[in-house]
Amino acid sequence: VMGQMMHQPLLISTIIEFAARHHGDSEIVSRRVEGDMHRYNYRDCHQRARRLANALHGLGVGMGDRVATLAWNGYRHLEAYYAVSGSGAVLHTINPRLFPDQIAYISNHAEDQVLLFDLTFLPVVEKIAASCQFVRHFVLLCDRDRMPDTTGIPDLLCYEDLIATHSDQYEWPLFDENAAATLCYTSGTTGNPKGALYSHRSTVLHAYAAALPSSLNVCASDTVLPVVPMFHVNAWGLPYAVPLCGARLVFPGAALDGKSLYELFEAEKVTFSAGVPTVWLGLLNHVLQNKLRFSTFRRTVIGGAACPPAMMDTLIDQFGVEVIHAWGMTEMSPLGTTGGLQAKHLALPRDAQRKILQKQGHAIYGVDMKIVDDEGKELPWDGASYGHLLVKGPWIIASYYKDEGGEVLRDGWFPTGDVATIDADGYMQITDRSKDVIKSGGEWIGTIDLENLAMAHPAVLQAACIGLFHPKWDERPVLVVVQRPGMTVSRAELLQFFDGKIAKWWTPDDVLFVDALPMGATGKIQKNKLREQFKGHSLV
Ligand code: ADP
Repeated sequence: VMGQMMHQPLLISTIIEFAARHHGDSEIVSRRVEGDMHRYNYRDCHQRARRLANALHGLGVGMGDRVATLAWNGYRHLEAYYAVSGSGAVLHTINPRLFPDQIAYISNHAEDQVLLFDLTFLPVVEKIAASCQFVRHFVLLCDRDRMPDTTGIPDLLCYEDLIATHSDQYEWPLFDENAAATLCYTSGTTGNPKGALYSHRSTVLHAYAAALPSSLNVCASDTVLPVVPMFHVNAWGLPYAVPLCGARLVFPGAALDGKSLYELFEAEKVTFSAGVPTVWLGLLNHVLQNKLRFSTFRRTVIGGAACPPAMMDTLIDQFGVEVIHAWGMTEMSPLGTTGGLQAKHLALPRDAQRKILQKQGHAIYGVDMKIVDDEGKELPWDGASYGHLLVKGPWIIASYYKDEGGEVLRDGWFPTGDVATIDADGYMQITDRSKDVIKSGGEWIGTIDLENLAMAHPAVLQAACIGLFHPKWDERPVLVVVQRPGMTVSRAELLQFFDGKIAKWWTPDDVLFVDALPMGATGKIQKNKLREQFKGHSLV
């Protein structure tokens, strides 16, 4: 016997349609690359997205065709999110922090037919336009009066002109919810980037799950500022989850430094935000140095890399900002686990609660996970046994775009490349990425623990732990440290700081001081670059 309910495909267009109809007045505020602020609402966004859908149709974009963006977080980018996927084409968000050749490589691999880009990226696009073999139309996201007089880009179109000449009358087409909707490439720290091709169904389900109270807890009374870029795994799903809840949206554009972010948080009364740890480092530095307070900011998601406990403590204890530690990856759309307490934890003392919040969190409904040893045997959930983390669920990749890398699943599970523990309450904690784990005398040393400890020292701004060659132990941990401006700590002091906090043999063999750590395109420390840089460093 079949159920007798309506069948409606889970399509991305239904989200903006809902937001426009039921939260039409909810505001979307954008700091534009042009320098000024732009304000409108979901109703306006929906109207302009429909104009863009007509315009794309006019440019010959059909079902399944790829349309790329090189853009900051802003309202025009949001319009592209809905117009491209909603009309049946595939939105490909390119990370502009990649090298120009990598951008051209990805664009060709994706066979992008149209490229929409912000003014900031005009010089990059001028450089690569000739190498983007499939792009038939380049569209600059700006007004007519901002269009360059001369440019090397053939037939450059102006976004505002383009959509102004098209009608806002457009019926979002109905099609299979399993159709491709968006395409994101992994950052490719090893080898060429690979594409994760999300479907409408996976995106809508992920948005539902992301909004849940036990995940990101987005609600109509929130003002959400996604610092995580819309080119980094679709800003972790917020451009879908926020309209789905009708919450107010604030987009920071290109200004992601501590001062600009703080001013925007205050001016727009932001309550909720999301970003990688390095972003909060910048924001917190600014706020602490200038003895500022947040007046409305209440909650933030931190993920993409481990949130240092010291950072969590500062946010919670000094600023009253609740921290949701989250873990995920491009291949998972990206959310897998989110932090938070269970009812039985509420009576625990502060420190015990904090230990729970520091973990990467609990699986969200829709995601299943397990840890296995090298032979694939499942390991117990005891919070101590660590192994390879495997996941499955309806928003987790089954194969890469164009089948790059061949078969990726292992007995129906996706191997994440992370090493983790899971405790009896189901909280997962990342020990390391398998490629960063240090193997010392045949035993594993997790680098995240060592980094977190180092960053608890007041004079340490940032720390990265890497394994370097050791003649006796194969590899030993070495700490690479950036000191906090105006403060210093010696090698001996820092090593002593580890005393009693960690097994003796985990203590790093050396501390190397640097002015800055190499950062990748998604704001994460590039440990492969550090290992390269200090390759010959002698540990005896
Ligand atoms: P890339 O793998 O290309 O850097 P992703 O943004 O998909 O791009 O990165 C996913 C990886 O980031 C995860 O596999 C994990 O190693 C790391 N990661 C994400 N969130 C966390 C977290 N909260 N704690 C520790 N590591 C994390």
